[in-house]
Amino acid sequence: MLVTDLRHFLDLPRDTPGPARPLAEHLSNIVRAATAGDAGTAWESALPCRRRPANRRCPGRMIVLRTAAGAPIRWQCRVCEDEGVISNWEDSPFDLRRRWPALAGAINEIGIPDEVAAALRLLDTGCERLVFRMRAGDEGAVLAATDDDLDELIEFAAAEANHEPSRRRRQRLDAAFDALSTAAQTPHRW
Ligand SMILES: [Zn+2]
Repeated sequence: MLVTDLRHFLDLPRDTPGPARPLAEHLSNIVRAATAGDAGTAWESALPCRRRPANRRCPGRMIVLRTAAGAPIRWQCRVCEDEGVISNWEDSPFDLRRRWPALAGAINEIGIPDEVAAALRLLDTGCERLVFRMRAGDEGAVLAATDDDLDELIEFAAAEANHEPSRRRRQRLDAAFDALSTAAQTPHRW
């Protein structure tokens, strides 16, 4: 059981050595998922496991549970033994709890490949709650979004791709844009 205090992982310097930086990213993603999704119930997010037993990526996803502010967020891999708790997540930059009521709208569930889900997590801000609320699907991730949400996400991916200096990240964002645009035009989504 990995017991962590999120405050120790905020604002790590760029040159932080060793495993601290990937761990910080892992923990901050878990906090984003747990605060973007519903509280009080454990659910399987689209976030991949960080472990690589015998040099192979663990195929598990992160199951997250947030109860109330003041209580640690709990997480565990669906497949391996990796698990932990994160305290002091409240009001951190990764706390995506909704501060205003959700707009009503029919929610579509859209299946997207893992690579696209990973690319969407590169987006800076704006659509974070949508992105980190993604659940694990039978294959890939499941994005639950209204038509307006999806339009916004597509515009956002396009805008970010236009401003992205890294060629590799730009290609990933372009692929995400294409996948979402296709999903938006498909009348029967899964
Ligand atoms: Zn695992």
